[in-house]
Amino acid sequence: MKAVYTLEDLRCWASSGAEPPIRIGVLGDPVAHSKSPQMHNAALQALGIPARYGRIHATAEQFPETLSLLPQLGFIGVNCTIPHKAAAMQHATRLDPHAKSLGVVNTLRIEGLDLVGYNTDGPGLERAVASELGAQLGSLRVLVLGAGGGAGRAVALQCLLSGCPSVMLVNRTLEKSEQLCAELQSRAISRTDGPPSLGVVAWENDALGDALRQCDLVINCTSVGMREDDPSPLASGLLPRGLLIYDTIYTAHRTALMRAGDQTGARSANGLAMLLHQGALAFEIWFDREAPLAVMRAALLEAAGRA
Ligand code: NAP
Repeated sequence: MKAVYTLEDLRCWASSGAEPPIRIGVLGDPVAHSKSPQMHNAALQALGIPARYGRIHATAEQFPETLSLLPQLGFIGVNCTIPHKAAAMQHATRLDPHAKSLGVVNTLRIEGLDLVGYNTDGPGLERAVASELGAQLGSLRVLVLGAGGGAGRAVALQCLLSGCPSVMLVNRTLEKSEQLCAELQSRAISRTDGPPSLGVVAWENDALGDALRQCDLVINCTSVGMREDDPSPLASGLLPRGLLIYDTIYTAHRTALMRAGDQTGARSANGLAMLLHQGALAFEIWFDREAPLAVMRAALLEAAGRA
């Protein structure tokens, strides 16, 4: 089995040579770093399902043709990652209501010639907050740090859909968080349980300190912390006692933000759990059976440790 397949490989798939055959996978650009194969292949093996999960590199231009080949090659489904999540929604022939609300698709299930679109990232975050921090996302006042990038956008939207009473957006480049806030206003206003408090906070110590004292959970969606020697995006002096911290970064190490939280007694977790739960939910969509969570978690931890 190759580490990464291409559109060219799919065009002459009979000679892919993988045994058991690849029936699920991830489409992305880049995709070589993805840890999803380790997690899903461990699950497939544990359940004795004769299939494998592979990485498929597809540029934005190649994405439509790559997708169109999958049904005839016997694929059960795929994950779609950067930069294909919006395009996956456009190419889905049917949409799960939650994916429709989020406006992006990260999981496709292949049913005959139909591509059914789902989004498991948002529900994965909800489950991660519950399992790692012991809290219901929808009951928390949330500050989203990095609310200008792709992850921050998805997280902020999920917070609104989950019912969070307050969602504060913070981004280094202020204009991007203001733009996101404007985009999210209609979602906030249309919420049946009453509009939440939705606003933008400048990335400046006084404003951040005030906002952090009025929130229960901070979710880091910046890329600061990916490297082990990265500083914390928030100084420990800004963190009030009793705060919950979810750092979406999925490395094996505790990030500097989590370590800063340790000094103030914050409960914290990193993004591995979100990755795990979005993967487990996708597995359940493809195979209509419970995913072996413990096996997938162990495989993911091992893969993250080796990265
Ligand atoms: P992205 O679209 O490139 O966004 C990067 C974000 O980080 C932007 O908000 C950017 O702010 C901010 N940023 C970058 N450098 C910064 C700095 N030095 N100081 C302050 N802010 C800085 O990336 P993405 O796809 O959203 O990914 C962001 C993170 O989310 C990554 O660490 C990724 O691993 C994680 N993630 C985790 C999961 C999961 O399942 N756990 C899923 C998706 C993503 P500006 O707008 O000012 O540039």
